[in-house]
Amino acid sequence: MEANVKISTLIGEDQIKKRIKELAKEITKKFNGEPVVAICILKGSFMFYADLLREIELDLTCDFLACSSYFGKTKSSGDVKMTLDLAHPIRGKHVLLIEDIVDTGLTMDYLVKILEAREPKSITNISLLFKPEALKKKVELDYIGFKISNEFVVGYGLDYQGYYRNLPYIARVESMN
Ligand code: 5GP
Repeated sequence: MEANVKISTLIGEDQIKKRIKELAKEITKKFNGEPVVAICILKGSFMFYADLLREIELDLTCDFLACSSYFGKTKSSGDVKMTLDLAHPIRGKHVLLIEDIVDTGLTMDYLVKILEAREPKSITNISLLFKPEALKKKVELDYIGFKISNEFVVGYGLDYQGYYRNLPYIARVESMN
């Protein structure tokens, strides 16, 4: 399977590291010493989440949720489902929602609505990657790592059929068989 896919670097390791430091600085400043629940949207965000959190200087607790809309394909099915819920309530807490990529915007829109209903003190969302051309649902993003064109990417947590998540950089998929 992997041998049939051609990839090339889109965003290198150093570029990602540099951007994460900038984002973490802004986030640290925003919360001004208040505690935050950092939510990782599995699976794609795990690498970004771990690297970003290490640069944020705040009292953080961690929680995880999982969503699915792709079901192994390269186009969103448009039908978002939560497949794993948070372990703890977020009522009255500052929430930092950490996503790998916003494509159609359906996942972020769905999650913000679900989490808002739980009455957190605030919701701040961040996505490492954003594809403005693919947007179907208007979503407000507080922080964006990189805007990219409408192409399928892998690496740094993002997969193609389960593979490539362990690449330390982001690559575009040039051809798929
Ligand atoms: P959305 O709901 O915004 O269309 O998509 C969000 C989810 O789709 C992301 O969390 C990610 O799992 C997946 N996704 C969107 N674009 C890409 C892409 O270019 N590559 C990969 N690997 N996953 C993507």
